[in-house]
Amino acid sequence: MSWHILGAGALGSLWATRLARSGVPVRIILRSAQRLIDYQHAGGLTLSEAGQSSFHSIAAELPDATTPIQRLLVACKAYDAEAAIAQLSPRLANSCEILLLQNGLGSQQAIAERWPQVRCIFVSSTEGAYRDGPMQVVFAGRGQNWLGDPNGGSVPSWLGDLDQAGIPQIWSSDILTRLWRKLALNCAINPLTVLHDCRNGELLQHREQLAALCEELSTLLEANGQATAAIDLHGEVLRVIEATAVNYSSMYQDVRLGRRTEIDYLLGYACRSAYSLGLVVPLLHDLHRQLREHLSLRGLPTD
Ligand code: NAP
Repeated sequence: MSWHILGAGALGSLWATRLARSGVPVRIILRSAQRLIDYQHAGGLTLSEAGQSSFHSIAAELPDATTPIQRLLVACKAYDAEAAIAQLSPRLANSCEILLLQNGLGSQQAIAERWPQVRCIFVSSTEGAYRDGPMQVVFAGRGQNWLGDPNGGSVPSWLGDLDQAGIPQIWSSDILTRLWRKLALNCAINPLTVLHDCRNGELLQHREQLAALCEELSTLLEANGQATAAIDLHGEVLRVIEATAVNYSSMYQDVRLGRRTEIDYLLGYACRSAYSLGLVVPLLHDLHRQLREHLSLRGLPTD
């Protein structure tokens, strides 16, 4: 059975090349005829890993191809994911499984609600990749992938494909807790790096602000029934900042490169969730407002 990979960006290419080189059948779905022409011109995807490059000629197609889709890895940004799947809707088999790689929360739930007949597997990834040219991906940071079905159910047999491809995976029975924890870490660190215009490590000069934010985020996690995700949040935020001190956060890099951020699936989701629970979170609201103003001044989308 073929894996279909929707979106040949950084993470989509990283998954596609590793699956393909291990002999797992893969097909990439590109957004437009022009993208397909560009892809065919390049002949495939190039993966750079530990200073070595490898070339992978992987089949590619457009959303309106007619073959049914049984297993779909969605590797678009959170704000594109639902619309991208909608283009494929007629091709989704009833027994289809969709893996969702998106950061933050909100896009996964919207997709699961819209296509209740398919099984949605949520993924939380700490692997790092970036594109350094058309059809070229750099594997920048080893990490882990946690996969889970928020509705429970059996462990999928295709996890063996990931093992075969050397894609690290752990089946998680509490994937929402993991995604909430990551959302909270991202909300504490990323917006502040943008607003203070700094690397992660420089946030240690704003310890009081970090501590107060973590307290509000912990309250929000607990109110959402995610008490486990709240344990020692502040301690982990400080550890992440120290371990990644010289790095620029992904949101910082998006803003610097004039790219749309995933703010609406991070701070936006956090603020909406607090509102729906009647929880007062002034610091999160203020951070959200300041960040949207910052984006707006730079002509970037605020959602
Ligand atoms: P990316 O490099 O921007 O890739 C997204 C891809 O989706 C692009 O190639 C884009 O196509 C494609 N796309 C958008 N709409 C499409 C459509 N309708 N049909 C087909 N393709 C479509 O993003 P990324 O860095 O891989 O991130 C993907 C998700 O993974 C994000 O939610 C991110 O937060 C998360 N994540 C990323 C990393 C990482 O290291 N990169 C790590 C952990 C989590 P075009 O090229 O044509 O625009």
